[in-house]
Amino acid sequence: MIHTLPKLPYAYDALEPFIDAQTMETHHSKHHQAYVDKLNIALEKLPDMQNLPIETLMQSLKDIDDSTIRTAVQNNGGGHANHSFFWQIMTDKKQEMNNELGSAIEAQFGSVEEFKNQFVAVATGHFGSGWAWVIVRHGKLEIKSTANQDNPWMENLKPILTLDVWEHAYYLKYQNRRPEYIEAFWQIINWAKVAELYHQALI
Ligand code: MN
Repeated sequence: MIHTLPKLPYAYDALEPFIDAQTMETHHSKHHQAYVDKLNIALEKLPDMQNLPIETLMQSLKDIDDSTIRTAVQNNGGGHANHSFFWQIMTDKKQEMNNELGSAIEAQFGSVEEFKNQFVAVATGHFGSGWAWVIVRHGKLEIKSTANQDNPWMENLKPILTLDVWEHAYYLKYQNRRPEYIEAFWQIINWAKVAELYHQALI
């Protein structure tokens, strides 16, 4: 087994009441684990790609000739990459945005509130399963969504923030109320991590 399930940087109940412990435990230990297991099975057929870091693997899908294996790596490798990233973007320790990121957001979006509004609109409006992202393209911030387990690494873009909008991420607590889940997510964003990723993306 090459890829392994990463430990969460907090306890399953740490994000209560915004994300409940049962959702976190199922999401991490069942959903994420399943992506890892299926990715490892798919990679058994691709010995040359087994040791690639997950982000590099995402950038290398086009090099997989067999379309069945490619789809398996896209979906399960994507699931592994996206969840590993998502866990780091959340925290139980309330944080403020730093100046570098805050100034960039204000310069580009007018205000943090407007940035949030646009992110919420993309995350709410995404049809079906997928992810909402903030990425950096040519030094500029951009908000986008991807379907299923697709991600910005597949397009050689650098994400700095993400939100899982698959129903499995929120259904136990919020049922069909995706906007409430997105609003709650805003309370637990690890802005220190996002700011660090933003800084790295500019280099
Ligand atoms: Mn998920």
